[in-house]
Amino acid sequence: MKVNEIFGSHVFNDAVMKERLPKETYKNLKKTIELGLPLEKHVAEVVANAMKDWAIELGATHYTHWFQPMTGKTGEKHDSFIAIKPDGRAIMEFSGKELTQGEPDASSFPNGGLRATFEARGYTAWDATSPAFLKEDSAGVTLCIPTAFCSYTGEALDKKTPLLRSMQAINKEAMRILKLLGNTTSGRVITTVGPEQEYFLIDKKFYQSRKDLIFTGRTLFGALPPKGQELDDHYFGSIKERIATFMKEIDEELWKLGVSAKTKHNEVAPAQHEMAPIFTTTNIATDHNQLTMETLQKVATRHDLVCLLHEKPFAGVNGSGKHNNWSLSTDDGINLLDPGTTPHENAQFLLFLASVIAAVDKYAPLLRLSAANAGNDHRLGANEAPPAIISVFLGEQLTDIIEQIQEDRLCESKQASELKIGVTTIPNLPKDVTDRNRTSPFAFTGNKFEFRMVASSSSVAGPNIVLNTIVADVLKEVADKLERSSNVKEAIGSIVKELICNHNRVIFNGDGYSQEWVEEAEKRGLPNLASTVDALAYFATPDSIKMFEKHGVFSESEVVSRQEIMYEEYAKTINIEALTMIEMANKEIIPSVIKYITSLANSINTIKAIGSLASVKIQETLLEKLSTSLEEAYGKLEALETAVEEVHSIEDIIEEAAAYRLKVLPAMEALRKPCDELEKLTSEEYWPFPTYGDLLFRV
Ligand code: ADP
Ligand code: MG
Repeated sequence: MKVNEIFGSHVFNDAVMKERLPKETYKNLKKTIELGLPLEKHVAEVVANAMKDWAIELGATHYTHWFQPMTGKTGEKHDSFIAIKPDGRAIMEFSGKELTQGEPDASSFPNGGLRATFEARGYTAWDATSPAFLKEDSAGVTLCIPTAFCSYTGEALDKKTPLLRSMQAINKEAMRILKLLGNTTSGRVITTVGPEQEYFLIDKKFYQSRKDLIFTGRTLFGALPPKGQELDDHYFGSIKERIATFMKEIDEELWKLGVSAKTKHNEVAPAQHEMAPIFTTTNIATDHNQLTMETLQKVATRHDLVCLLHEKPFAGVNGSGKHNNWSLSTDDGINLLDPGTTPHENAQFLLFLASVIAAVDKYAPLLRLSAANAGNDHRLGANEAPPAIISVFLGEQLTDIIEQIQEDRLCESKQASELKIGVTTIPNLPKDVTDRNRTSPFAFTGNKFEFRMVASSSSVAGPNIVLNTIVADVLKEVADKLERSSNVKEAIGSIVKELICNHNRVIFNGDGYSQEWVEEAEKRGLPNLASTVDALAYFATPDSIKMFEKHGVFSESEVVSRQEIMYEEYAKTINIEALTMIEMANKEIIPSVIKYITSLANSINTIKAIGSLASVKIQETLLEKLSTSLEEAYGKLEALETAVEEVHSIEDIIEEAAAYRLKVLPAMEALRKPCDELEKLTSEEYWPFPTYGDLLFRV
């Protein structure tokens, strides 16, 4: 297999378009893609026909408008290309209209009150900036057309539309600044994203015997095995053959789809792994990350594995996240966050850097919210993932420059030295100007920022919508000021200083996991939003709505509906988890333990009946311990049932979500404890489902 031959072989990409479209059509389509000009009808007809021929040659029978509803997953409804002629014969057809617009009955997607169920109309519209691709599975080949999804009244019902809007917003403001700085060559500013994806792989046969994994994606019970991650022997460890075979297939499948899978390695927890692609434009990176998650899960089942994307599938070992590497770049290749070798002289860089810092500080709760879901609540702030407090890591060189700026003595950039290894046969290495910091939620890493809070199972659209918009908001202020100033050069200096002085409280280079930081952050007035419910309160505030509206990213009703969807999703998730626990405790754990207790009792009776002198002390001790824990478990089970019932009677969604967090979650934890105790005491033969040892180590 030659990588360059398979890479992009399932994508209707630029090369294919150039080859298959008439010159004029190609030019027109490029204008749509690059300049955002509307696509003319006759052009769409020609493109649709070429796309259909290409897809059919590669085995496609169906096409689908592929969209990203607010479930965070992807939606698709398949139509065949088939059309019937009057003489009864079938031909394959695909019109320009079918390419550019679809109308799925969309009443069953979450919409937060934006569309009553009786008004089921939803529209999908081709996003020509993301190329069409072919999905192949045992059922056949389908042409997938990336689309935006909106309601009859034009409100966005998906994650892609606001993402595209946010890219427009940041492009607009960043271009204003570049022009004011004298840039005459760049036509556009795009945001780039490279998301690193963490995941777990477990054996399918174990997965299938665990209702919690099936229904909720995480384990709700499970005593810790004798070994966890304490030996640090999995991180970057050599990859087991079964997993390596899986990863090879993942690479190939992703490459076919044009996803530039680049890095793969074992992660910290047993059975945990990571993949990272090469970064690309944000909306394509988002599409690709959705495809990556889907492919990971699909390919896993072919290997009798299951891929868990949940943020915290197992207690006691690390959970999974997604590192959203983000930067700004011009269409002629200038990375606006590249400091160069002497950042103190790089006014453009300092202006963009200071704007990002200011945006992160000003809108920290929105950024926090963009990474929030019920699963991620188990990670953030739990000494394995970034804390729930948003701060920015800059590293030594930039922090030094920031200090110089504040003290009006900007004159130098600290330079990196060489790394001396002390072995004469190994040459000295050029050292980076700063060491890494793994505990920061928002770290500057050379020429980009790495937003590390993002939830492993979520679409990266949400975090990037927020990032793009909040940075656009600060850039707008900066551009306005520059426009008003008579001397742009001087104005840059004072704007950078003002931004830094007003927002330096968000800069923190120390250990984000420490208790001191929590206290220090509080002193600095930085928000510490521990849970999704806390963060959600900041979404539909007047300030936030105004900001999103100002940049044309969300309307008020879109913000309000999205907030409602997130509250609902949170409440439903915890509800499913609680019901699953109740079912597992009632139908599996308690009956199994009773069986084991009975067998112990039978053993005691049998031994006593034959008048044997053998001691039954151990059986009796065990029996007692088991009954105590069993009784406790039963009490906690009843308490959980009551808590769930109480929450079901709450009508207000905000109150309901809060009650799930404050009443149901603690009741779930309380039930887990005695049940895990029972697991430790019960003979393996009687325990109803696979243990952590099976799940984490028998892959
Ligand atoms: P690490 O694990 O050290 O953070 P990786 O190499 O695993 O690094 O991931 C870094 C990610 O950052 C990759 O996806 C890479 O393509 C991406 N990246 C690099 N430069 C940029 C950039 N300018 N904009 C966005 N992402 C970038
Ligand atoms: Mg990283």
